[in-house]
Amino acid sequence: MESFLSHFNQRSDVEREWLRQLFAFVRDKLCPVLGTGALALSLVQRIEVAVGSSRARCLPLSYRLVTISELVTRQQTPCCSNLSWSTNEHREWVREAEQALPNLRALPRANLLLIGCLSGGCGVGGSCDGFWRVEDVSGSLTSEMLSPSPLWLGQPLLFPFWNYIPQTAPGQDHEDSGYLELVGCPLPLTSDSEVAFNPAGVNRRSAVGVKVAAGLLKHRVKGLRVKVYGEVCAVCPLLDIAGNSFFCLFLREEQQTLPILVTEPSCLWWRLSEESGCVSALPDRQLEGADETERVVPPHTTKHSRVISYKGMLTSVRSTGAGLYVIDGKIGLCLAYQPIQRHGLRPGAEIELHDVHFLYRPSHTSLPSMLCMCLRSSLRITSFSRLGSEVSSTSNVPSDALLPQLLLEMNLGMSQYLWLCYCCTALRDRLVPRWVRGERVCVLAGRLLECVLTWEEEEEERGGAGRDIYREMLQEPHHCPLTEYRVGSPGCQYVSVSDCISTMESECWDSLSLSSLLPASGSSLTQAELNPALAWSVSLSLGQDKLPRPLLLVGVLDLPRTHTPVSGPHTLCLRDQTGILTCVAVETSDDDDSGRQRAISNTAWIGCLVCVRRFTMVMERFLQSEFPSYRHLDQDNYITHRHSRVYVQLCLNDLQILSPSASMTHLIREKKRRREEEEEDDQMEVQEEEEGGSVKRARQEVQENEPRLKPPVAIVTGSSLPGELPCVSLVIRVLRKEGVAWRNEGTGCEGGRAGLSLCFSVKAEPIGQVQKWAWNPRNSVLQERETDRKTDSTTVEVLFLRSSVRWFNLIQPGSFYRLIAPNTQDSSVLIGCLVAVKSGVELHATPSLLVQSDWTIHTLIPPLLNPPYSQMTPPPVMSVGEVLNCSRDVELVSFYGVISQRITLPDQSGTPETTQNTDVEAGLSVRLTVCSETKGRSLQVYLDLSHTPYPPGIVPGNAVLFSGFQRRLSRVGGVYCRSLLVSCLTVSAVGTTILSRDPPPPVVLLGVWAMRGAEQCLVGRVKGHVVCVLYLQLQWTCSLCGSIYTQRCTRSHPPCGSTSSVFQAVAKAVIEDGSGEAHVWFSCPVVSCLLGLTTPQWEGLQRSLRTKGHLRVYTRGRSLVSDTVSDDPLLQYLSCVCNSIAVCRPLTLTCTLQTRSHTPAARREDSAQLKRGEKRKRRGSADLLTHGLTQDTAPSALFLHFLFCLSSSPRGKG
Ligand SMILES: [Zn+2]
Ligand SMILES: [Zn+2]
Repeated sequence: MESFLSHFNQRSDVEREWLRQLFAFVRDKLCPVLGTGALALSLVQRIEVAVGSSRARCLPLSYRLVTISELVTRQQTPCCSNLSWSTNEHREWVREAEQALPNLRALPRANLLLIGCLSGGCGVGGSCDGFWRVEDVSGSLTSEMLSPSPLWLGQPLLFPFWNYIPQTAPGQDHEDSGYLELVGCPLPLTSDSEVAFNPAGVNRRSAVGVKVAAGLLKHRVKGLRVKVYGEVCAVCPLLDIAGNSFFCLFLREEQQTLPILVTEPSCLWWRLSEESGCVSALPDRQLEGADETERVVPPHTTKHSRVISYKGMLTSVRSTGAGLYVIDGKIGLCLAYQPIQRHGLRPGAEIELHDVHFLYRPSHTSLPSMLCMCLRSSLRITSFSRLGSEVSSTSNVPSDALLPQLLLEMNLGMSQYLWLCYCCTALRDRLVPRWVRGERVCVLAGRLLECVLTWEEEEEERGGAGRDIYREMLQEPHHCPLTEYRVGSPGCQYVSVSDCISTMESECWDSLSLSSLLPASGSSLTQAELNPALAWSVSLSLGQDKLPRPLLLVGVLDLPRTHTPVSGPHTLCLRDQTGILTCVAVETSDDDDSGRQRAISNTAWIGCLVCVRRFTMVMERFLQSEFPSYRHLDQDNYITHRHSRVYVQLCLNDLQILSPSASMTHLIREKKRRREEEEEDDQMEVQEEEEGGSVKRARQEVQENEPRLKPPVAIVTGSSLPGELPCVSLVIRVLRKEGVAWRNEGTGCEGGRAGLSLCFSVKAEPIGQVQKWAWNPRNSVLQERETDRKTDSTTVEVLFLRSSVRWFNLIQPGSFYRLIAPNTQDSSVLIGCLVAVKSGVELHATPSLLVQSDWTIHTLIPPLLNPPYSQMTPPPVMSVGEVLNCSRDVELVSFYGVISQRITLPDQSGTPETTQNTDVEAGLSVRLTVCSETKGRSLQVYLDLSHTPYPPGIVPGNAVLFSGFQRRLSRVGGVYCRSLLVSCLTVSAVGTTILSRDPPPPVVLLGVWAMRGAEQCLVGRVKGHVVCVLYLQLQWTCSLCGSIYTQRCTRSHPPCGSTSSVFQAVAKAVIEDGSGEAHVWFSCPVVSCLLGLTTPQWEGLQRSLRTKGHLRVYTRGRSLVSDTVSDDPLLQYLSCVCNSIAVCRPLTLTCTLQTRSHTPAARREDSAQLKRGEKRKRRGSADLLTHGLTQDTAPSALFLHFLFCLSSSPRGKG
């Protein structure tokens, strides 16, 4: 110590004290390679050199020596240290750094002196990872160097300029807890460092060139060893495959290259000191793809990437784990195909990329320009970042590290990998932490991708064999998974629930065309007729048809307990953290292969995390308007209120389960077990018959086709309960279900109806006794004790009140359910009592059971009970035809039919305009036209929705089970149905488009139709001949009050201020078809077709009536006469027209059987069907005449004077 200090006698006391500490540090902490004194002296010299000549012989007293372990344990934030900086130099350095990326701060300065030895390749535990390390007696630290020299190896060095980046990410061991970026050249503390870099002791004189070596390789001689020399032209990354580390480098001699594989552990650090060739920067234009306008790239186009070199600055880190970065703010960088650990890739770092693949728009989820590194590419940091980048929560999610592993396992292309990374982020935002644990997100994203790829496979073959890393690295010409890439694969877009809802809400009104909602006679409708026609409409679109790419939804299926405005409490929902989406769901039957849809009944779906690709978006529009006539439809100010309801329709069998609920897990296992049992039975039979491989093959096929059981990744929440809690259960079979309605239960209120609660009840049959459980049996297989009936089982009425109403959609007649009351061992809670639960409204003769809000219901696989469980069967379901034909005594019917049309009936009560959205839906009266699936017969069903929450899915194209409807007869004997309080609507099949039109009506003979009337059909096609025109009325009508309109409305008591009018025309003609004759009414615009007038002629006719207002003519003898004037030229003209052969010609008409009554009267009757019920029938011949239907049921409506009211569509003209 003293001899050391004697060299510094001239120094001040402060400096001598600093030097004393330095000596002590060298003595205690550095390996005593040389004498401590000599080393310390050398250190001081180097420090003086580093500090710089301008401040020569000035010691950096503010700096303190630090050991590696001290640095690792004490330094929690990134920092940098530079001995040579003056304050101004440092300030300038900070300014420059922060200019580059203004949102980041420069690394803070730490006055620390670092001394250590450099070692290459192997870490403390002996594992060789190829990293350089700085070591001292206290420990070692991984280091990055810009241009390392082998001359530094094993030498004690002073590091004058370095950055230290601690890595505090969880899950990493202490060894990897940080790294050094050695910016400046280290200064050796000893002088004898002139050892040549010749680690293997190669004698270059006996080495051969690359050309010779390549020749030798072609004609291999066993055991031959050669020494090769050449220029290094490419260095591949260090790989660790199954514990063996190796890398590959290329030597070049003129045009000949030779790959060399380095597998010797002691030589791995060579890689770090190889210098590779120069960088050719890419012309900017090639990377400015982002400026190009977005094109819809046809899916699955295969493109070739280009191999380039690139130099730029790393500007942001998208995900360290996934290996995604951004260079120069506009180019994506993906390192996932080179799965090696890297340091120094921080924002602000300058990097050089060699032999990287340039991909343009590989995926819509990434930047347009992507640089991707394969095993042949190399990355070199040319300048360490000066910026202190905080490890942000998004860029360093530990679970992302699984993504490159999935890339390898699933053998993904670049587009697919980028999609996977995007979905991983999206899933994290939308499902974590409520439904999925953060660390499971990657697994989930992998499953999602698998689902999507499976779907795409259905459409086309997926190519790509496994990766061959040696071929990727060594083969010429180069070929790797990045050489070719599939643009836009997967070609679908994962949208959040809230995005899906907003897409539908905007499309709902964007797709609205008011004029298209009107019938063909729209131009002649008065205000009172026009606005109801616009009151409700629906549009459907398929999620898979969305542009620019199909939509994909992911969410948890749920039955919300609380009533929300967007979803009723009794509808199935798909949720994620962004929103809740109502689903109208059906499933296909397992029992047969028909693929026929039916109502959902399986509660195991609740809590499943699913991926939805096939779904129909339904957008219902409710419009309150006061349009005076069709000419005003473009003026939005006549719309007084608009409201929409959006939801999706789907089939549960189309869903992919990403994570099953506990019940679903059980169900899948149980189904598998049953199938295996059946298979064994089959096998035994077959073996008896013949010996062969077919059984084995069949079994394999079954196993391949069965849904693979995926362990749940989702967090169990909501309706599922922890399995350990004791509970009691009761198994029931549902016989009948009534509809949900607001009823007076006398027990508080909920929602918008004061004093009323939502409620429904089912009639069920208990299968056995109430059972006690120590655990929650959920939907497990029915145990014998549960079916062991000791008492005569009667039926029980199960009441669902308030939040329990959520089970409504899943309870179907004929299905078996296990009712579970948790947290109790008291079996009496599940025994129905005879005490009326309803407060005195009506008493039930059967015992009642009120379902509590915490009870759960589990659907059971129908058990095979012996003896058969019941003689009781659910009420039969009829077809539309059966309802039409059944006996008049039947009053309550249940039937199945497809909705072909839906009309909102005008509000008869004259309630003031409503402004609340829910009110728009609440008081609705709706008339549905329901067809059977096969025949053209249809039935009118009147729904009163005022006592029930609005039912989604009641739209044309859907098949609905109507249960508990009242069958009634109209005055002409036509059959219609109307809803009662107990009526229940169940959507049992969903259409994908409203274009699923009615089948063409049957061709009828007038004679036959006249005999059988409405019993045959209401709408038919008639092929006949016009005999003559009996009657013609042309009139300008006030659109407000319906009076004749001349220059103004002619009504005087009270005066009408209307300024708009519509032109209306009615004609009656005699049609005969050989079997009979009918009087057929025609109305606008079919009248002009009947008369054979061209559009200009028709418009001229309208103009000429402007002043007169109206004209009514009828036949007398062979000519037409008017009831007012006789010598009107217009009358002459019409008379001429009506008798011409242009009118009296063959026709094909689509006709509706109707009464003589005029349209408004018919409309009145419509509401009468609903409100007042049956009207008194008149006796005698008039019976045939009094059936009423509205004009708007058909494209255009006509009335038949004698027997029929027929309508004809213009396209039906022959
Ligand atoms: Zn490649
Ligand atoms: Zn008027």
